[in-house]
Amino acid sequence: ETEHVLMDETGMRRALTRIAHEILERNKGFENCMLIGVRTRGIYLARRIAEKIREIENVPVPVEEIDVTRYRDDRSAKTEQTAAGAGAASEMDIHNKKIILFDDVLFTGRTVRAAMDALMDLGRPQMIQLAVLVDRGHRELPIRPDYVGKNIPTSRLEKIEVLLSEVDGSDQVVITGQ
Ligand code: 5GP
Ligand code: MG
Repeated sequence: ETEHVLMDETGMRRALTRIAHEILERNKGFENCMLIGVRTRGIYLARRIAEKIREIENVPVPVEEIDVTRYRDDRSAKTEQTAAGAGAASEMDIHNKKIILFDDVLFTGRTVRAAMDALMDLGRPQMIQLAVLVDRGHRELPIRPDYVGKNIPTSRLEKIEVLLSEVDGSDQVVITGQ
């Protein structure tokens, strides 16, 4: 099995800084915006982006998180049961907000579809944008990211490993595969 480092700590920091600037440029600031990280690693990425936007703009940046496990259309009933307790986004007020959804890796698009479903259950956002650290291709739904850290064409057999210092002790994106 081979392993290649695609992004190191510096590369990840630069990508996230760029995305923070792109978000501010696209939205002409951060007014009425809200970051929502998709459980697990998307949450840490959303928090990092929030910190950068606070530094750049000196404005409050709301960050929420969402667990979409039970909304996925391709999870078994058993998985759904165990995940149901964790729930999706619970009490956040998303009405008329511009939501920037953040996940670590975009693959088929089913997780993002599930996240949008979960959000629509909570209210009517003004807009939803999508930011991902890695787009590895292989979409099965008409979903595309607005902000991308790195496009990494993969085979279906390859796996992207996203390591984040908050949970993994270091910042790194690695591709493993045949
Ligand atoms: P999708 O729902 O688009 O098929 O897959 C995206 C979700 O699964 C994301 O939440 C992401 O964390 C996870 N995922 C899919 N493929 C990979 C991968 O190659 N590496 C990692 N780290 N996560 C992946
Ligand atoms: Mg994930």
